[in-house]
Amino acid sequence: SNTLLKVDGLKKSFSIPDGMFGKKKMLKAVHDVSFHIPEGKTFSLVGESGCGKSTTGRLISRLLDPSEGEIWIDGEEISQRKEAQLKVMRKKVQMIFQDPYASLNPRMKVRDIIAEPLAIHTNLSRAERYQQVSEILEIVGLSEYHANRYAHEFSGGQRQRIGIARALILKPKLIIADEPVSALDVSIQAQILNLLKDLQSEFHLTYLFISHDLSVVEHISDHIGVMYLGTIVESGPKEVIFANPKHPYTKALLSSIPIPDPRLRRERIILQGDLPSPVNPPSGCRFHTRCPIAKDLCKTTEPAVHKDDGKGHMVACHFVEY
Ligand code: SF4
Ligand code: MG
Repeated sequence: SNTLLKVDGLKKSFSIPDGMFGKKKMLKAVHDVSFHIPEGKTFSLVGESGCGKSTTGRLISRLLDPSEGEIWIDGEEISQRKEAQLKVMRKKVQMIFQDPYASLNPRMKVRDIIAEPLAIHTNLSRAERYQQVSEILEIVGLSEYHANRYAHEFSGGQRQRIGIARALILKPKLIIADEPVSALDVSIQAQILNLLKDLQSEFHLTYLFISHDLSVVEHISDHIGVMYLGTIVESGPKEVIFANPKHPYTKALLSSIPIPDPRLRRERIILQGDLPSPVNPPSGCRFHTRCPIAKDLCKTTEPAVHKDDGKGHMVACHFVEY
C-alpha cells in the first residue's frame, strides 16, 4: 500500500535561556527520528513524558518548524513549506489532543466547535456546514442534543468524541492523536479506542498515535516506535515489539504493564534514575545512564541501528542479538 507519512532524519532544537546574562543553550527535543506509516495503518510513538514524542507530532503537523529533516505527507515534502503553502496539508492532517477540556473553546456551542474547520477551510454555507456537523455527530456517537450545548456540560469521554468529530469534519487522511485517552477513566478509554479503530476502517484513516503507555497502544497499533531522549531506540510490528522486545528500554517499559495471568508475567525491570536532560544528553548511547546491561562501550559510542529486515524490526543497541 501507499506510504501516507514518511519522516526522515527529523530534528528539532529549541534555544532556551541559560542562567542570567541572556545566555542561551540548545535543547535537543528531537534528535534524529525516521519512520513511515502505510496508508490506513497506525504507528504508535511510545515513551516517557519528555522524550520528544509530542514534539515529533507537532513537527509533522507543522505546528512547529523542524530544524532538520524531511516530512512527506501523501507524496509531498512539507518540512520547509511556508504557512501560505500549507493549506492543503492542513486539511489532510488533523490532531486530537490529550485534554479535551483544554482544546475545546468554552464559549462556543458544540455545533460551532465542530463546524469551525469548515468555516476556515471551505466555502460552504452555514446550513451546509451544520448539515455536515449533524452527520459527523452521528458517526462519533453523539446527536443534535449535544450540538446545542457547550462542551463543559459533558463528560471527558463525550468531550473527546467532540474533539474527534472536529478532527474528522475536513475528511483528513492523517490523524495525529497525542495521548487521546490519557485523561479518561479506563472504562472510557476502551470506548474511545474502539471508536478510533472503527473510524479508521470506515474512512481509511492513517494514525500517528502518541502515548506514554504501551498497554494503551497495544490494541490500536500496527507498528510501534519506542522513543528515548529524542530518538527511536526500537521499532517494529506490534506483535514483534510485544513478543520479542530487544532493547533494554522497551523491555523495561513492557515489564511495568500489569498482566493478570501469573504464567505470562515478565520479570519487573525498574529503571534507575530520571530521564536525563535533553540539554546535556548522555554521551554514547543516550540510555547508558539507566541501562541495566550497559558496558564501557556504551558510554563512548552511539549504537548503530540493527535491522532484522525480514520483520522490519529495528534496534539501536550495541548488545542486541536476534
Ligand atoms: Fe544499554 Fe549499551 Fe544497548 Fe545502550 S547500547 S541500550 S547502554 S546495552
Ligand atoms: Mg507529551
